[in-house]
Amino acid sequence: MRIYNSLTDKIEEFKPIKEGKVTMYVCGPTVYNYVHIGNMRPVMTFDMVYNYFKYLGYDVTYASNFTDVNPKIIAAAKELKITEREVANKFIKAYLEDLNNYNCSKIDERPRVINHMDDIFNFITKLIEKGYAYENDGDVYFRISKTLDYGILSNQNKDELNSGARVDIDVKKEDPLDFALWRKTEEGEQFDSPWGKGIPGWHTECVVMINSLFGEKIDIHGGGVDLKFPHHENEIAQSMALNNNHLANYWMHNGHINVDGEKMSKSLGNFILAKDFIKLHKPNIIKIALFKTHYRLPLNFTDELFSEASTIDEKIYNALKQANVKVNMDNLEYNYDIKDKTFEEYMDDDFNTPNVISYLLELVKSLNNEIRNKGENVLEYASKILVITKILGLKYELVKFSDEDKDDYQKWLEYRNNKDFGNADIYREKLIQKNIL
Ligand SMILES: [Zn+2]
Repeated sequence: MRIYNSLTDKIEEFKPIKEGKVTMYVCGPTVYNYVHIGNMRPVMTFDMVYNYFKYLGYDVTYASNFTDVNPKIIAAAKELKITEREVANKFIKAYLEDLNNYNCSKIDERPRVINHMDDIFNFITKLIEKGYAYENDGDVYFRISKTLDYGILSNQNKDELNSGARVDIDVKKEDPLDFALWRKTEEGEQFDSPWGKGIPGWHTECVVMINSLFGEKIDIHGGGVDLKFPHHENEIAQSMALNNNHLANYWMHNGHINVDGEKMSKSLGNFILAKDFIKLHKPNIIKIALFKTHYRLPLNFTDELFSEASTIDEKIYNALKQANVKVNMDNLEYNYDIKDKTFEEYMDDDFNTPNVISYLLELVKSLNNEIRNKGENVLEYASKILVITKILGLKYELVKFSDEDKDDYQKWLEYRNNKDFGNADIYREKLIQKNIL
């Protein structure tokens, strides 16, 4: 299994910290509004990654947080005239519905910042004790000048970063690059800390939740490429300071989503909320469209892409439904533990899903041939297609025939063979109604 590691800019062999186990953390949403389709790309990508590790037999623990303490939430509370907790709960609920609708709910741990305040105090206190952080007028900042490899993830050195940060000079900071671990708040939600009332910094929240759930280091840290800097860089800086490690052995970043070649933005009017997008396209079609592009590359949503994805989805479903007739009529059972070497080759190559989609179409072609020629491998091909599509997060409903269904199917065949097309049509209609044909 080889993964592109953003930390080293290399494709590396995956070696877990603990044999047979994978720990994975993916930055979740700041819950101050509804998420857009760009936020769903990491969700669908890491769902696929999770499913594949499971297929390989790993015991995977997948965590994705809710950033539920944040200045954006304070601002939303003011605007909506409700409390910060009400804002967070409202949008956590909406996000969980999105996960469910996109068939991406298999997250083992969903930590919230609000439940880790003491951990955050301890974490910041330790950083101050070690000289990596300093307090100034109720704020606490991370001391960049003390770090050695700052910029390692985003491939920038401190000098380059400094010249970019100069515009943002803050008299409370020793260095323009220093970032807030704790910030004094004047209005909205506040928490009592050793440094006065305020809220924690976002970069600290994620590291603390990771350390609390998993310990000092995890296998995989994921997120969208836009989080590389400053968010992930600053997570790494804190972990280096406190634990002398880069927090995760493998850093994975997915590319962003464009719509018709343009970046999604509210002003361009191409800003699509996840909950609205699912009304336009079925989750299967969205995922096929998504996985036709490698996760690291930018993805361009076009009508053409979705019509292509829709055709692929139909091809897969039609072949599976025909196979399902044979499986049921012959009293066979699908083999959900079946393995496929070619599929593994593509996935082991840093999750090459575009190749997997092409391979799926080959399997569908082979399955159709087997069905047409009454071959022996219908069950094998159908099982492989079911296993692979499930890893991609696709869902295909296949009817388990009752005795009555089997009778109806038998009768349809008999009427058809006897050229009694009137009766044959009645049974055909019935079987279509039951989603058998
Ligand atoms: Zn994060």
